[in-house]
Amino acid sequence: MIGLLIGWIVGILFFFVILYNVIQAAIDNSKLAKDVRTLKKLLSGTDKEDISDESDDATYADCPSCGHRVALNGTDCSECGLRLG
Ligand SMILES: [Zn+2]
Repeated sequence: MIGLLIGWIVGILFFFVILYNVIQAAIDNSKLAKDVRTLKKLLSGTDKEDISDESDDATYADCPSCGHRVALNGTDCSECGLRLG
């Protein structure tokens, strides 16, 4: 009887430890993914954007609020959300 009880307690503890680790890993993954995306944007995204946008400057303008390059036919800035036009 006591052995069964100890077995249950150990089993429940083990279950919660696994559950905790799974949740923690999921949180870390989303945080890491966000960080990687931000880092990628900082390292290469902005440079690439500038190169590709330079060819058709006429259709782009700098956002008056944040300075991000936005398409003139767009309704709002993709960076800060400011409404344009
Ligand atoms: Zn903006």
